[in-house]
Amino acid sequence: MKSICVFCGSNAGHNPRYRETAEQLGRLLAARGIELVYGAGNIGLMGAVADACLGAGGAVTGIIPEALMGKEVAGRAVDHRALTRIEVVDSMHTRKARMAELSDGFIALPGGFGTFEEFCEILTWGQLGFHRKPMGLLNVNGFYDPLLAMFDRAVADGFLRPQNRAMALCSDEIEDLLAQMAAYQPEPVDKWLKEEKQL
Ligand code: AMP
Repeated sequence: MKSICVFCGSNAGHNPRYRETAEQLGRLLAARGIELVYGAGNIGLMGAVADACLGAGGAVTGIIPEALMGKEVAGRAVDHRALTRIEVVDSMHTRKARMAELSDGFIALPGGFGTFEEFCEILTWGQLGFHRKPMGLLNVNGFYDPLLAMFDRAVADGFLRPQNRAMALCSDEIEDLLAQMAAYQPEPVDKWLKEEKQL
């Protein structure tokens, strides 16, 4: 993997472990020569992962929608001159598409709606066969346990195939998650479950 897109909170969370892990991830990407692609924000875990990656000599690309440019957060992101590259795009949709195009894999650190949405959308594109790239949850502090339980519930209730559920890689350890991602071989299956299997 030459580049990884990181989805993460525009807040830093209450537990200091979240920020520490974001910084650790940024440094590790830099050390491995993997470019960081992200939403260009300079706040919360987004700022933490980008600053740590840049600080360790890594390459960082930020993708920001024009509509966010005037806002304080985007302004700070754009003033974040050390970013290796900033792309200004026309919409949130284009941003996600560009982040997906530019990246060889995706990691979600803890976050809120934006992070959940981005990760679930990229999973959705994966299960539809639009891409074959690895996607992993960095389960710091068990943050993603409830989401993983939700995925399992969707399998149990016949809304999600186990093979597609397995696309969501997960670890509480960065190195382990990167190793899982490097070894990832998607199992192409139809998204849709057969009628007769439904209860
Ligand atoms: P959230 O988890 O709700 O804080 O949203 C964070 C995710 O949504 C990030 O991965 C970004 O791509 C995007 N996002 C949300 N808010 C911002 C912001 N103020 N600036 C840049 N990106 C944001």
